[in-house]
Amino acid sequence: MFLKKINSARHTLAFRLTLWYAGIFMLTSCVAFFFFYFLITSVIQDRTDQDLLGEARTLSSILKLQGIEAVKRQIIFEAQAAGEKKIFFRLLSFDGQEFSSSNMSYWLDIGVGKTAINQLIQNKRPVFDTISLPDRKHRIRILYAHIGRNIISQLGQSMESYTRFIEAFRKIFVLTMASLFIFAAIIGWFMARRALAGVETVTQTARHISEGSLNERVPVKKNQDEIDQLAITFNQMLDRIQTLVTGIREMSDNIAHDLKSPITRIRGLSEVSMSTGASEKDYENLAASTIEECDRLLDMINTMLVISKTEAGVNKLDAVEMDIGAVVRDACNLFQAPAEDKGVKLSCDVAGHFNIFGDNRLIQRMIANLLDNAIKYTPAGGRVDVTVQAEDHNTVSLTVKDTGIGISDSDSTRIFERFYRCDPSRSEAGIGLGLSFARAIARAHGGHITVTSELDQGSTFTITLPKKGL
Ligand code: ADP
Repeated sequence: MFLKKINSARHTLAFRLTLWYAGIFMLTSCVAFFFFYFLITSVIQDRTDQDLLGEARTLSSILKLQGIEAVKRQIIFEAQAAGEKKIFFRLLSFDGQEFSSSNMSYWLDIGVGKTAINQLIQNKRPVFDTISLPDRKHRIRILYAHIGRNIISQLGQSMESYTRFIEAFRKIFVLTMASLFIFAAIIGWFMARRALAGVETVTQTARHISEGSLNERVPVKKNQDEIDQLAITFNQMLDRIQTLVTGIREMSDNIAHDLKSPITRIRGLSEVSMSTGASEKDYENLAASTIEECDRLLDMINTMLVISKTEAGVNKLDAVEMDIGAVVRDACNLFQAPAEDKGVKLSCDVAGHFNIFGDNRLIQRMIANLLDNAIKYTPAGGRVDVTVQAEDHNTVSLTVKDTGIGISDSDSTRIFERFYRCDPSRSEAGIGLGLSFARAIARAHGGHITVTSELDQGSTFTITLPKKGL
């Protein structure tokens, strides 16, 4: 169980971050340690060298003041005082021959370096050498120095304290590194967990959502950090998904509703004709009504397909240069009769030509939808005014203004959605596809459609299209 947990933790980002953190921490500590080590060892070595040089200087002064015999006594005395196993002295002539020394019984394996002596004679400067022998535990630092006329002193000192220090330092290094690694890993793990806690919350929310509750949101801590940004973006995405899902749900409800009515009517008609033992005339009527309902259904399905294809950009427009002014005038003429029937005054103020590149059939249908709506949603006694004008050199705008029932602010943001119908319009015939069709066609021509409206005062729909379109 525990092993399983560790194994799964191994694949987490927190684990990898911890390793990185601990690794970098160790690396920097190692660099600092080596720097410190280098500094200390060179200081110790320098001190040993200074001690040896000091001894050589003393011998040189004694030689000058008291003569060679005093030097011979001094080296015996110095070796005894410092420890005969720690230091030795040899007095040599220029050809390297030894003529006096301290007690050398412990140092018999240390000879005289001819090269060092030659170097000393040539450069006239003290020469240092470090000797390490297989059967000696500690290295020996040797100094060859010229202390008087034709007299060279060879001074040797065991580097025992130096070696001891290095060993102690190594032990401390290993111990410190081990504890530092554990410490860095704990801190790193803690920090990584803390930093990634927000990601875990997002993951958990996503898990709950995938189990079905689209209402959940990730809590935002207001730290303004990356995790907060992630949470905000994630929540925005959820809002959008929720809106889309609700929209799809409403749309499928609407489709179901709009399909149900004609099918129920067809079924009702068939039932009546069957149960009343109908005549041939009744069957003809039934067939005609069925065709009419089917046409309405097909029209609805076709409109949906045109909208989807146009919005997706797969519906190729049959664009030609056309006069939209002429199309609007024709449409007004066509709608004059139904407007009069309803007692609505339809006036068309379109003078001149307004050429655009467009799909004649689709543009006609788009204008027809707007006129149909304006007349449909304007009570008797009202008016509908249609105008076309050039906005500037590049755009043409078509306005359909009515004095009808108007649209509330909350509805005006939704009327261009497929199947959306405002409540007061439910008594009127319609399926809620006219405006989404108009919007899809306007956009496909590189233009757009807008609405301004006030309840019970009327609405104004404006379509703006580029003159040369597309
Ligand atoms: P419908 O077939 O219902 O007319 P539309 O897509 O053409 O579908 O319009 C969507 C809804 O927008 C309508 O149901 C109606 O509530 C509202 N609407 C459209 N045009 C007007 C208008 N000129 N005046 C008031 N409401 C309108």
